[in-house]
Amino acid sequence: MLKVVLIIFVILFKNMFENTEIGFKSKSNKRLKKSKKLFKLLSFPFLVKAGKFLLLISNKLKLPSNKIIKNLFFDQFCGGETIEECKNCINELNEYNIGSILDYSVEGDIKNIQTTKKEIINTIQEAKNNENITFCVFKMSALISFNSKERNLDCINEICQIAKDNSVPILIDAEESWIQDEIDRITEKLMAKYNTKDKTIIFHTIQLYRKDKLNYLKKIHLNATKKKHKIGLKLVRGAYMEKERNRAIKNGYESPIHNTKKECDRDFNLALEYCIKNIEEIEIFSGTHNENSCVLLAELMKKNNLKKNDSRIHFSQLLGMSDHISFNLSEKGYNVSKYVPFGPIKEMIPYLIRRAEENSSVKGQTSRELNLINQELNRRKN
Ligand SMILES: Cc1cc2nc3c(=O)[nH]c(=O)nc-3n(C[C@H](O)[C@H](O)[C@H](O)COP(=O)(O)OP(=O)(O)OC[C@H]3O[C@@H](n4cnc5c(N)ncnc54)[C@H](O)[C@@H]3O)c2cc1C
Repeated sequence: MLKVVLIIFVILFKNMFENTEIGFKSKSNKRLKKSKKLFKLLSFPFLVKAGKFLLLISNKLKLPSNKIIKNLFFDQFCGGETIEECKNCINELNEYNIGSILDYSVEGDIKNIQTTKKEIINTIQEAKNNENITFCVFKMSALISFNSKERNLDCINEICQIAKDNSVPILIDAEESWIQDEIDRITEKLMAKYNTKDKTIIFHTIQLYRKDKLNYLKKIHLNATKKKHKIGLKLVRGAYMEKERNRAIKNGYESPIHNTKKECDRDFNLALEYCIKNIEEIEIFSGTHNENSCVLLAELMKKNNLKKNDSRIHFSQLLGMSDHISFNLSEKGYNVSKYVPFGPIKEMIPYLIRRAEENSSVKGQTSRELNLINQELNRRKN
């Protein structure tokens, strides 16, 4: 049934994201041409592999490669090295009614807990004074060690308390399945502690590429209803598919990831339906570059007589990707925010590699970006 409804909506709303004039209105010709070059490079998987190797080597040997990285990748996918440097990007997005989510994206370095904590708290302070920063975000693995039995949650509680004191909602990213159970357990407690029946401060993330997560979503919703507090849910498909599958094969257990994309899409869309049906208790943050899922959410809102700018529903994409979705949605009056990653260039390399790999492996993503950019450049010529 859902499939039939979805097909009808997709046909009806097919044109929702086709307007490249709106999609790229913040971009000069020069910037569009630069993006075009990058997405062309990313369309060759062997170049991405070679580039990843060169980036890691240059980083290890401390070669002066910052300028190349900045020019090629960083400027496309990141807001700046510091919060201050991100302000141009935040202001530019705001001109088009798009919010920003400052994301300190230094990954996999548990040694720098204090720096990471400080940066996250700085993003909350910045958000308190700047309504264009709509959410803050963090990864638990950057703040606590999942290998240690003595796990100190003080730092996470401190961040959540500051977010609550300043009324700034905070997203907790989802990570690999072997640490996610623990992240789930901690996040459920944080939601019970910091969310109330009227206000959502903590947003949990649900990865719908996992076989078990649609049921998990329903379970935490029912638990929260019993405890009489709201929940915020960031719905995503999931970013670690290959890593998950490789580990499952290596260690001889069943992969927690759906066997097919179709099953993953089905669960993502069912999750949207479930959340909309329970919108009085669940705030929705839909993190996706999938046009059909965005169309479905917009249609579900309409069907349920929810305003386009209902404050409980947010659409979000990553900076440098799927602008045609973000800008067209915001033009139509929906709540849209972009993740704006920041951090020292060298330390952002793992994040940039993930973006490069995602863009070269997600079927059709790069060719879609390239086609849209070409379409817009041609339109401007005429
Ligand atoms: C704002 C935002 C925040 C995000 N936060 C997180 C986060 O906290 N944690 C996280 O893990 N990811 C996060 N992501 C990334 C997200 O999970 C996806 O990896 C990425 O957005 C691509 O999925 P999609 O829905 O945009 O597009 P699509 O192109 O429709 O989907 C691609 C995704 O589908 C899934 N998939 C592809 N092939 C198969 C298959 N054969 N079988 C099963 N599943 C398949 C994979 O998850 C793949 O990434 C975030 C993305 C956005 C936009």
